[in-house]
Amino acid sequence: MTFEEYGKLKKTIDYHMNRYYNEDAPEISDYEYDQLMLQLKAAEEEHPDWVSPDSPTQKIGGVAKREAGVKVTHNVPMLSIEDVFRTEDVREWVDKVHELHPDATFSVEQKIDGLSMTLRYRHDEASGKARLELAETRGDGLIGEDVTANALVIPDVPHYLDIPYDYLELRGEVYMSHEDFDRYNKECEEQDKKPAANPRNLAAGTLRQLDASITKERGLRLFIFNVQDGPAEMMESHTKALQYLEEKGVTTVHHEHCRTADECIAAIERIGQMREELPFDIDGAVVKIDQIAYRADFPAGSKYSSGHIAYKYPPEERVVTMDEIIVDVGRTGRLTFTGSFHDSETGKPARLAGTSVSRATLHNQDYINEMHIGVGGEYRLFKSGEIIPRLNGCVKEPPAVFTAPSVCPVCGQPLVREEDTADIRCVNPACPAQLVRTIAYFTSQDCMNIMGLGGQLIEALIREGYLHSYADIYRLRDYREELIDKGVIGKEKNTDKLLSNIEGSKENEPERLLTGLGIRNVGRRTAKTIMQYYDSIDDLMRADLEELTAIPDIGTTTAKDIVNFFENEANRAVIEALRDAGVNMRVHREEGGSQKLSGLTIVVTGTLPTLGRKEATELIEKNGGKCSGSVSKKTNYLVAGEAAGSKLSKAQQLGVPVITEAQLLAMIEE
Ligand SMILES: [Zn+2]
Repeated sequence: MTFEEYGKLKKTIDYHMNRYYNEDAPEISDYEYDQLMLQLKAAEEEHPDWVSPDSPTQKIGGVAKREAGVKVTHNVPMLSIEDVFRTEDVREWVDKVHELHPDATFSVEQKIDGLSMTLRYRHDEASGKARLELAETRGDGLIGEDVTANALVIPDVPHYLDIPYDYLELRGEVYMSHEDFDRYNKECEEQDKKPAANPRNLAAGTLRQLDASITKERGLRLFIFNVQDGPAEMMESHTKALQYLEEKGVTTVHHEHCRTADECIAAIERIGQMREELPFDIDGAVVKIDQIAYRADFPAGSKYSSGHIAYKYPPEERVVTMDEIIVDVGRTGRLTFTGSFHDSETGKPARLAGTSVSRATLHNQDYINEMHIGVGGEYRLFKSGEIIPRLNGCVKEPPAVFTAPSVCPVCGQPLVREEDTADIRCVNPACPAQLVRTIAYFTSQDCMNIMGLGGQLIEALIREGYLHSYADIYRLRDYREELIDKGVIGKEKNTDKLLSNIEGSKENEPERLLTGLGIRNVGRRTAKTIMQYYDSIDDLMRADLEELTAIPDIGTTTAKDIVNFFENEANRAVIEALRDAGVNMRVHREEGGSQKLSGLTIVVTGTLPTLGRKEATELIEKNGGKCSGSVSKKTNYLVAGEAAGSKLSKAQQLGVPVITEAQLLAMIEE
């Protein structure tokens, strides 16, 4: 096979892969598809140097898996920009440029606080457009990493550009919006995982994920800010090139065209004012010479781009005096520390980036020791590139550094410091602090979704002795008269409304119940996945470690957390109480089917005697099974028809049982 034929074959397979995985409308049989893949694999074995990450052999399920550490040498070095901190420096630089080139103009742009990525587009015969062939991270400026698979799931990255050029290389900044960042951290909090420090770090980690579906789910965005290489007409005026790209639907960075130093400084100030309102972080403003040819006359050293400077906005900072360290107990029993303070100068809450700040998280005892935190101490408080204000250094030592209590501030039981972490926990299962949060989580929207039963009411019900665990919620109706008399919930109308919401929640799908149990690492999404493999909570309770880890996306840690939870006597008792109260534990599957294939992952390949592939898939799913497009260790059965190809050999290799259509039908009809 020639390299050209290899390229054509890749395109053909890509096309069919897309029809199958993304459009659910395959045009060729599995067999034909497998044959094409075999040819491709054979060619790649013969010519290992041909293999690139965009080869169909490197992708799984329509979303590519990125290969770690594939290095790319940049066509144009990806340099950084020299920073200046005073607007006077900007003026001096602009004047210097004007001395040599009196007609020079400038582009002043937002400097997005993310990470740079270069996109290479090349003319593609099939579409007549330029196609994204490679996306690369900055790396050390000369050599970066191939992140094409992940770039393709960023909504602002065009897969094709309708431009008449053979080659175009663009550079942009990948960032994460405040909204996506907050969502990620909220999920971390719910799952008791360590939150990300700032959007930039999270964006960097997300862009380098091996699994592009994770990148897609977390959400990244991109602004294009430069044409790195391309035809002469794109390399004349920077502003014109950006405008041309905008016409082609490319998302470009906010840019203002300026003539004089005064205009540049005014633009920098305007961008500075925007800063607070933007849904993402910026850390400065970039000033570029618009005439690209002039840039080479103003080199700034080998590390920096010629003809560019970046004005860095000063980080906003205040000095605050610590008033109190508040110790709280979280849902999982973990102690949290919050510093409460006032602005040392004004005596009021500190003003930072347009918001009032009087509290900041103090993380844990190690952090408190490191920062010398204590009542009466003075600290720098800043907000820069981070949404959450943070303390940054001690200005005046406190009389004493704060020490965590040795007993739980809520229940008075001794606290435990966990090995290998800085976390301190209250491990008393009857601790009321945990009880309020445990129950509030159970009733929350993501879990049992009981409207009207929030934290304050739960606290009152615990205080009055009605709630000792979340199972007691379902016994509240036995105390209806009493509750109305005491007015704990409200008058008759409100009490009945809440009781009816509670009754209604009994019919929820068990995935909500499973989420509500608050098992570590089992959030809503994980619970949903797990319940696809089990008919009921009872089935799940019988599962062992091995069985649970066989479920895709369930790791050993999560599996252990689940097994431990159900092994605990107290937890089993609560589940029994929920069952006695009539809370639904069984999964309702689609009507007309059975559950005969429940928990099984089945792959269909080849031409079956009577069923089309779509029919077979529907039949399996209707009977509670799960269909997958590829054979793995987690596959339970491969249904093979005539002319089954590579999936058959893969199944034989892995020892996956291979059955016929007749055997499949027998399993269902049994
Ligand atoms: Zn406690």
